[in-house]
Amino acid sequence: MTNSDNGQAAGHRRVIVIGSGPAGLTAALYSARANLMPLVFEGVQPGGQLMITTEVENYPGFEHGIQGPELMDIMRKQAHRFGAESVYKNIVKVDFSSAPLKVTDEENRTYTADAVIVSTGASAKWLGLESEQKYMGYGVSSCATCDGFFFRGMKVIVVGGGDTAMEEANYLTRHASEVILMHRRDEFRASKIMQERAKSNPKITIMMDTVVEEVLGKEEEGRKSVLGARVRNVKTNEEKVIEAAGFFTAIGHEPNSMLFRGILEMDENGYLVTQPNSSRTNIEGVFACGDVQDHYYRQAVTAAGSGCMAAIDAERYLEAKEFEESQSHSKA
Ligand code: NDP
Repeated sequence: MTNSDNGQAAGHRRVIVIGSGPAGLTAALYSARANLMPLVFEGVQPGGQLMITTEVENYPGFEHGIQGPELMDIMRKQAHRFGAESVYKNIVKVDFSSAPLKVTDEENRTYTADAVIVSTGASAKWLGLESEQKYMGYGVSSCATCDGFFFRGMKVIVVGGGDTAMEEANYLTRHASEVILMHRRDEFRASKIMQERAKSNPKITIMMDTVVEEVLGKEEEGRKSVLGARVRNVKTNEEKVIEAAGFFTAIGHEPNSMLFRGILEMDENGYLVTQPNSSRTNIEGVFACGDVQDHYYRQAVTAAGSGCMAAIDAERYLEAKEFEESQSHSKA
């Protein structure tokens, strides 16, 4: 059931972490080193978004880069070394209405904790094409900052019409020789200023009214790569093939916050709201870190940094609570 498989996980913990990307595992590492013996609900797809990337070149400490899944494996082992325990189950219900805080897994097992760190991340939205899935991590990406560097001097496609697509397209012009920005309608959703920036960038070619039918690629000696996309103009129905070495889906992200709807404060897009310069949420003892509360930076290293903050905030919260309790006992 847990990494130590001792069957003792159910019950009460000082700290429970929900989510196992860089934020959750860093929160687990720090709270484990603070002797809080955190229990980490990794979910059924442990490791978060880095599990669908290949090479990670911008995580400090790895001069020659590291594979996303390997990085997550190292982070997990590092947290376990100090006493963090993992449960490979999803949390399906939380009850933060009174202390202790309660979380229930998919087998209807309820655990209690004095502090809960929420690090459930966000998921990139995908077009849903089989070919997009096939080349994911091999030329198909949803993160220009992470993967743009691999396309130096090459042509890439960006799909989307919101601020993310404009931003990704602009960013990619730093590396790519040409960026084809494709949008399914005849009007962008993005803010005027972001649109203008993309439109005035000489390296960006815009294709409106265009949908992607298939991501094209090849597989040679077990190595997959993207060759372009077969696209269709929705007004004329004309199909054509656009050659490109990279394919960036930039149609938005969704925070994995459904579980907390009506319980934790969130913004209009579902991102959890934390207090300024803190990981505290609106509920005492509940902290949030990583992409579930950050739609702006969305990097492994910033997620890890916020995981560290959440663990420190949780530790200080527990310490203060213990102190208060000891004071009230000594007065009684
Ligand atoms: P948005 O929801 O704003 O835009 C998503 C875009 O993707 C839309 O143009 C939409 O098309 C298109 N799209 C959605 N689904 C599909 C699909 N299946 N096939 C093809 N196209 C699709 O998401 P963003 O991530 O762009 O932005 C989210 C929020 O974050 C916004 O509030 C935005 O302003 C903010 N943001 C701000 C930034 C900044 O200020 N620097 C940077 C990035 C984001 P359609 O228009 O036809 O619906």
